[in-house]
Amino acid sequence: MTTKIIVGNLKMNLITLSERDGYLKLLKSEIKKLKNDGSWELILCVPFVHLDFFSKNLKGKNIYLGVQNIFWDERGSFTGEISPVMARECGAKYSIVGHSERRRYFKENDQEVNKKIKVAIQSQITPIMCIGETSDERKEGLTKDVISRQLLDGLEGILPLQSEKIIIAYEPVWSVGSDIEPESNEIMEVRILVRKLLTQKYGEAVAGKVKVLYGGSVKSKLIKKVCFNPQMDGVLVGRESLVPVNLIEIVQSFSQC
Ligand code: PEP
Repeated sequence: MTTKIIVGNLKMNLITLSERDGYLKLLKSEIKKLKNDGSWELILCVPFVHLDFFSKNLKGKNIYLGVQNIFWDERGSFTGEISPVMARECGAKYSIVGHSERRRYFKENDQEVNKKIKVAIQSQITPIMCIGETSDERKEGLTKDVISRQLLDGLEGILPLQSEKIIIAYEPVWSVGSDIEPESNEIMEVRILVRKLLTQKYGEAVAGKVKVLYGGSVKSKLIKKVCFNPQMDGVLVGRESLVPVNLIEIVQSFSQC
């Protein structure tokens, strides 16, 4: 049985302690409905300030915590930034890197993404590297070029053994937060391209171990589209992860496909 990975990205939500507590309570009661049969793994990427709390209060087989960003160095005079070591020490095993919202609002580029991936691996944090084309790039037929550039520049200097630890999330920017869903053949084409590029760079055995997820307006209804034809290894869920019942429904439907 293959284990499907479901990543929840809570973004900048649960802004009060009571929202945080209410969310955790609901999530725990929903999680009880899941069969712990190895068919799923849930990675909840929480706001930094809640990491320690979730780490102490959300335990469970196949449930892990992550953060939504890290800085590209471990320590130093970088006012306001969060070191991957800090995240790890507070309970994170994963970090989203290069999310489209960070690329868009904070102008993160592929070189910064690359540095973050390197420091994550060095700090025993598994990076979940987001790649995806914008709506304009898609209209101009640039999807493959953008995906290739983001993937190869982001993985520059990463050795085969290190690459096995990376999770790639294909998140078409036009679908993130928009409720516009790609067709399954669009998702499949990108999955094939990513596998091809990884195989060219690292060889088939290593490339086969890298998990490739889909993200963008994922709801449980979309799961069939994402898992049957394109056979993705998992999904990255934004808004729907804020509603525990919806998130767990996604885990249930995805682990069954
Ligand atoms: C995301 O945050 O990466 C995401 C895919 O968001 P949404 O599911 O809300 O589109």
